[in-house]
Amino acid sequence: MKIVIVGNGPSGVKAAETIRKFDDKSEIILISEENYPFYFRRNLPWFIAGRFSEEKLIAKKPDFYLKNDINQILGKTVKKIFVKEKEVLLNSGEKIKYDKLLIASGATPITGEWKNLNFKGVFTLRTLDDAKAIKEYMEKIEEVVIVGGGLLGLNMAEVFSEKGLKVHILQRGSKLSPQMFDFEVSNFIKSKLEEKGVEVNFNEELIEIKGENGTLSEVETSKGRKIQCQMLIIAIGVTPAIKFLKETEVKTDRGVLTNEYMETNVKDVYAAGDVAQVYNPLKAQYLISTSWVSALEQGETAGFNIINKNKKSYLGVSLNLEFIFGIPIASIGLSNPSNESKYKFLIKNELNKGLYLKLVLENGKIIGGLLVGKAEKADLIKELIKQQVDVNKYEEKLLKEEFEEIY
Ligand SMILES: Cc1cc2nc3c(=O)[nH]c(=O)nc-3n(C[C@H](O)[C@H](O)[C@H](O)COP(=O)(O)OP(=O)(O)OC[C@H]3O[C@@H](n4cnc5c(N)ncnc54)[C@H](O)[C@@H]3O)c2cc1C
Repeated sequence: MKIVIVGNGPSGVKAAETIRKFDDKSEIILISEENYPFYFRRNLPWFIAGRFSEEKLIAKKPDFYLKNDINQILGKTVKKIFVKEKEVLLNSGEKIKYDKLLIASGATPITGEWKNLNFKGVFTLRTLDDAKAIKEYMEKIEEVVIVGGGLLGLNMAEVFSEKGLKVHILQRGSKLSPQMFDFEVSNFIKSKLEEKGVEVNFNEELIEIKGENGTLSEVETSKGRKIQCQMLIIAIGVTPAIKFLKETEVKTDRGVLTNEYMETNVKDVYAAGDVAQVYNPLKAQYLISTSWVSALEQGETAGFNIINKNKKSYLGVSLNLEFIFGIPIASIGLSNPSNESKYKFLIKNELNKGLYLKLVLENGKIIGGLLVGKAEKADLIKELIKQQVDVNKYEEKLLKEEFEEIY
């Protein structure tokens, strides 16, 4: 059997590794438009900061591909897939046949509709090449504006402030990382940023990118302020990389729609990782998870189902672990639901000591959690959510240290 995987991020590589565990005969071809073997994308901010060398960033060395007999095609883009002919078309004009296809193409940054996005000094961060360009450019500048106070924006604020640059964050609402943080945690992180000299501007948006001779020198904001800057980082989110699937039979919504087995509507075509919008039978919804751990888990499920007849399902509970100025922050499942009246919240707020634990409950079951300062319990909470454990009897214990006993 010939298995083609589009994308060599965590989902694609984990799928390839899983396939090899069960089958040493099938041909595996892994295609990536980037020129690097699988690397720790999530560590790109720390590569820019100089904490990781390029060598340390590489997650799988060449011997992994040799040992597992995985044929990597690097630096080539899949332009189109033909599901009837069962082949993919590369930008080089080459066509590659497949028996089974996994779409693991990840996501691309949303750039917005501003004019002058092509100015020198304006960046997004997704790839190692983006990171190298930012790392080099940052040496020549003094002030940077970051649009977006999500996790990526916060990581970059840390990198730049450590470097001694003046950093301004523009954030649309009045909360940082609004999908994950509640107001308490957002205010705590804001105060940590401000201690480091980062200016956090809530309810202020980017209106115009300005400069001369194609080089950025200033931005104008929705409050009419002009901020001098030589670098602008657009960190307003990502969108699934599905461009090459236009006009194909593969069904997409925001991402590639799959069932819980990572199968798309087209036979022998699967999807996993940031690109996939996966049906969750517990929630009766198609959900996109954009985290490293989810990509690994979905890749493993897809790899298993590509090769085995007894299918495994992915009952995704997202887990995102981040460090902001060295503070561990884990968000699990639905950590900050919008319709608060529907849920019960158990909160231990000791942010004066840098500690916070929040659990979100629905009908006696945990559906989400947010941990700040100590994140060791993140996996356990994830398991309690996955197993739908009824925790009614244990509410007292849940906020205490020893709540492992429940499980
Ligand atoms: C700067 C940064 C920091 C992050 N930090 C964290 C973190 O702390 N914690 C966390 O959980 N997550 C983090 N993430 C998110 C995490 O990296 C992603 O969720 C994860 O990489 C998704 O894996 P994936 O395999 O789905 O896709 P990706 O890792 O995006 O890999 C997709 C691959 O597909 C290739 N590709 C795409 N389109 C094509 C095409 N048409 N033809 C050929 N190849 C193609 C790409 O080149 C790439 O190699 C971070 C992301 C970034 C960018």
